[in-house]
Amino acid sequence: MEDIVALVRPEIYAMRPYTSARLEGDQSARIYLDANENPYPPFPGGPEQEGLNRYPEPQPASLLRRFSELYEVPVEQVFLSRGADESIDLLVRAFCEAGRDGILITPPTFVMYETAAEIQGARVCRVPLVPGSFQLDVDAVVAACDADRRIKLVFVCSPNNPTTNVMERSSVLRLAAELRGRAVVVVDELYVDYSGRPSLAREIGDHPNLVVVRSLSKEYSLAGERCGITLAHPEVIGVLRRIMPPYPLTVTAIRAIGAAISPDGIAYGRRNIARIVAERDRVRAALSRLPVVRDVPASDANFLLLRTEDPRGLCAAMAAQGIKLRDRSSSIEGAVRVSIGTPSENDELLRAFELYSSSN
Ligand SMILES: *Cc1c(COP(=O)(O)O)cnc(C)c1O
Repeated sequence: MEDIVALVRPEIYAMRPYTSARLEGDQSARIYLDANENPYPPFPGGPEQEGLNRYPEPQPASLLRRFSELYEVPVEQVFLSRGADESIDLLVRAFCEAGRDGILITPPTFVMYETAAEIQGARVCRVPLVPGSFQLDVDAVVAACDADRRIKLVFVCSPNNPTTNVMERSSVLRLAAELRGRAVVVVDELYVDYSGRPSLAREIGDHPNLVVVRSLSKEYSLAGERCGITLAHPEVIGVLRRIMPPYPLTVTAIRAIGAAISPDGIAYGRRNIARIVAERDRVRAALSRLPVVRDVPASDANFLLLRTEDPRGLCAAMAAQGIKLRDRSSSIEGAVRVSIGTPSENDELLRAFELYSSSN
């Protein structure tokens, strides 16, 4: 697919990647004396620490296979990173030449895209979501890319953080088709399993400039182990492998990820997602009855975005009760983001809201 290769920074495409001991040569020796590892187990030892003195597999084949089954894409379309954050960073570094190329974002949206661009020295073009519906303005995004041919990446967050809604599938696909050969459309699907909608990953075959970013952080309870999954055309995967850190995943992360996406792990994860979805709708209904809550739209994610008269006051009052919320009023007027917790955490949240409501 030379039309996607042409978008990659030429020096990155040409570069010879660093090859680590765990990539070079046969990996099935009896005695490993090739990586200057310490042959003794770390302190204090014990079964949980088994193998920690060894470097991990950079892209564990068994995990790639499992993710390819889970997301129903060919294994050549899967890349693993230290969280989706790292995937975003690598994509910006692979495609954007510092001082020349740019990314396009659709505010209000996740802030990390912009941060990664700033670190790389890439410009940031902003095309706001349609006010009210928070949907993509496809024509405006395409027009912005027409006006600035050096925009290499368009970030689309669906379900969008913080606005909670999925972007219409047909819009994202039309955008990818319009920008083919010109820019890569990166769809951040960190919350898609909470939406009940299908992922766009299976469209990569028809849209080589589509990249889908997933993670185990929000859907499979593994934020602490850092596991991001990038699903993309094999050429893009090849480029990411060229610039990835030598060992993106720790030995303990690989173990935890393997358990989380085992058949039992997936069943457990899906049960929790269903519980959170049920709680989301219960919490939303309860919040929307409170006079201090101006509105709280239906959510496709595991969080709600409510609007209130005094977002700072609300967050402070909740903090005083030991409940931490996220003030998002700097990007959306009056907005406060509330993650869905366990039923008892949500009950506490609702009690604290009622208290706040009765005194305001
Ligand atoms: C949390 C979040 C991320 C980062 O996820 P990690 O896999 O934990 O790095 C990326 N995108 C969005 C939209 C998020 O909300």
